[in-house]
Amino acid sequence: MTVTDAIPPHGGTLVNLLAEGAEAEMLAQEAEHHPKITVNHRELSDLEMLSVGALSPLTGFQGEKDHRQVLETMHLSNGLAWAIPVTLSLTEEEVKRIGGADAVVLTSREGGDPLAVLEVEEIFKRERQAEALGVFGTEDLDHPGVKALEEAGDYCLAGPVRAIRLPQHHDFAKYRLTPAQTRAEFVKRGWRTVVGFQTRNPIHRAHEYIQKCALEIVDGLLVHPLMGATKGDDVPADVRMRCYEALFSGYYPKDRAIISVFPAAMRYAGPKEAIWHAICRKNYGCTHFIVGRDHAGVGTYYGTYDAQKIFEEFEPGELGITPLMFEHSFYCLKCEGMGSPKTCPHADEDRVILSGTKVREMLRNGERPPDEFSRPEVADILIEAMRAGAE
Ligand SMILES: [Zn+2]
Repeated sequence: MTVTDAIPPHGGTLVNLLAEGAEAEMLAQEAEHHPKITVNHRELSDLEMLSVGALSPLTGFQGEKDHRQVLETMHLSNGLAWAIPVTLSLTEEEVKRIGGADAVVLTSREGGDPLAVLEVEEIFKRERQAEALGVFGTEDLDHPGVKALEEAGDYCLAGPVRAIRLPQHHDFAKYRLTPAQTRAEFVKRGWRTVVGFQTRNPIHRAHEYIQKCALEIVDGLLVHPLMGATKGDDVPADVRMRCYEALFSGYYPKDRAIISVFPAAMRYAGPKEAIWHAICRKNYGCTHFIVGRDHAGVGTYYGTYDAQKIFEEFEPGELGITPLMFEHSFYCLKCEGMGSPKTCPHADEDRVILSGTKVREMLRNGERPPDEFSRPEVADILIEAMRAGAE
């Protein structure tokens, strides 16, 4: 089997914007002459995703035409499905500083190493209201995505990107596989069908069950935790990773499941982000993608099933990845096993269901939730992290 046997990336070609060898050196030298633009956390994640092809077929930050098309129709101007604009914001002061330059250098912080050269194609004023409503379905500033949009500059800079280097990370090096690398790994393992699981939380029994249900019908499972910026009250990345490792070493078959980091930042755009997450996972080589209830949601901005229903707005085959929709699941004492409202006929009192608030309270008190809810190894890591955090 060859790599070409794998699922095609979105748009047909896996993008790679990372320059190598002499070209990278040339870009780095050229970079010294261009105005520098410091990108924010979300944009830095997007830059990395663009560079490695996770956002194929995009080869840079999007211009006004695509921006508008995506907001209005969930398609690029070339007709390809796409759910969330990928933009680079500029303040008015930065627009003045760029002046008529034909290229700029992107860095992650003031005085930082140049990461990429962006060829300036277009600078346009963003329509905040249209973008907030089009992406998040709300203009409420309590929504973390709307707030981030509000804090970003008034203008967007668009154009193709050549990356000099990937943003540096000091954690999870062995888990940072690019789409080309996950694809090669799937081929090596002989997996023709792979289901991707997006998560920004520790995995308890309910999500383990959903992943394993999905794995029953495909060859392999990619647990793909999002490790870009999240809300301050989400569980820290290093704690989450320890939970995933404990779970994998105790309960997952090594030849059927792998963990890799998804470098995206959360937007909390609910349904639109579910589509975007699915397309990205297709680029990583997944043929199937798990969509639970409230995928990528926050607060009460989205209906419970919105992130599942939105997939119906695309023609069959348009997305090129099969969504697998799941209900909330739980351990049922009468069934003596995991199930969901689809498969268990019993009442709530027979089901081991704990609210997030209740679980946090138990963990804070050093108390393990029942084994039917959380694997003890995972509970212990979370208890330990809470204790360390409280000190
Ligand atoms: Zn039951």
